[in-house]
Amino acid sequence: MPRRPRGRTVLVCPQCGSPKITLIAGSIVGQVYHCAACDYVGSLVLEQDLPPEATEKR
Ligand SMILES: [Zn+2]
Repeated sequence: MPRRPRGRTVLVCPQCGSPKITLIAGSIVGQVYHCAACDYVGSLVLEQDLPPEATEKR
């Protein structure tokens, strides 16, 4: 299967859309993420594509 080598992805909260998602636990059933913005905890997170030129800008 072809893999598109463009940019990278960022995890965002499904509730508030914040990218402040941290992985707090991993198990055989999946990962558990925590959102620092709205305190959401769950295994469901959204993956968003980042444009290649938006990397590491300060
Ligand atoms: Zn959130």
